[in-house]
Amino acid sequence: MTDEIEFPSYNITNICNRRNRMYLAVLKYKGHIVKGDVYNTIVDILHQNLPDNILRSTVEKSVRSLLNKEFTKELAFQTAWRLAANTDQLLLQQPVLAPIGQLKPEWMPAQIISVSNDHNNGRFAYRLGFHILAGNMAGNKVFQSWSTKKCFYLATVRDGKNLGFGFGKHRQNKKGEQVGSLLFYSPQQYYGLRCYLLLEGDNLFQPRIKSVGHSPSTFNYNKTLITRRDREKTDCLLNLPNNPECHTCPMGENQCSIALRPLSLVIVDCPRCGKREFKDPKDFDYPELCMKCVDITRKELVL
Ligand SMILES: [Zn+2]
Repeated sequence: MTDEIEFPSYNITNICNRRNRMYLAVLKYKGHIVKGDVYNTIVDILHQNLPDNILRSTVEKSVRSLLNKEFTKELAFQTAWRLAANTDQLLLQQPVLAPIGQLKPEWMPAQIISVSNDHNNGRFAYRLGFHILAGNMAGNKVFQSWSTKKCFYLATVRDGKNLGFGFGKHRQNKKGEQVGSLLFYSPQQYYGLRCYLLLEGDNLFQPRIKSVGHSPSTFNYNKTLITRRDREKTDCLLNLPNNPECHTCPMGENQCSIALRPLSLVIVDCPRCGKREFKDPKDFDYPELCMKCVDITRKELVL
């Protein structure tokens, strides 16, 4: 069934570059109510930053839902992203409207933007957040919980075209030494990787993930990132002492561009274990506890 749904090919770099150009160009209207001259100018700017041969009227119909709304940063970004991600449809002079939901199954490229602990139907799991990069849901986020077993399975498995997330398998030689490379140790290593998602609508047309797939482009993107994060292949980007493995490093993207989390971990005096330990400032459930104790507390809740 999933094989029958067309697997589109998107140039994600071009989409993101165009999105950023359009977003920065319309951002000066942040905080304005979209009407009259403001509306017309926003339409003009978006139109000028899209490929030639897209009619202004097609762009105008695509963004009519902005009328009389306050033009927030988020709305500007979403609008720029939606148009940049769907230029093929615009070139056919078909307006690209803000999605009301996912009406039919569609493959879309996505980037993993969060990996957090979760319990799913009473079992400990990892909750992955995906930002949709192109297609109907471009600019939206979807989430799914994966068991530890699923995380490890999907990390190394390859499809019929030898594509996957791109991690290597653990292999030992006769002396028992590890000879595999680009290895997967922790679900946190999914952070920042790309894949395709087959999204379908539930009975309220809200998108949910039916299947995960890969293209040569997402595979190569991941391989490059995984290689840069692997100390067997590449030294620490920040030249930190002892050349730490990225999946054990407390840095966030605020300090290192290939980090495995948005914000660096911070140190707390944890009242549960009595130690000075790391905590993730993005995890709000147990603000006073260290990461290890948050983990233990969550697992205890599941049992
Ligand atoms: Zn603790």
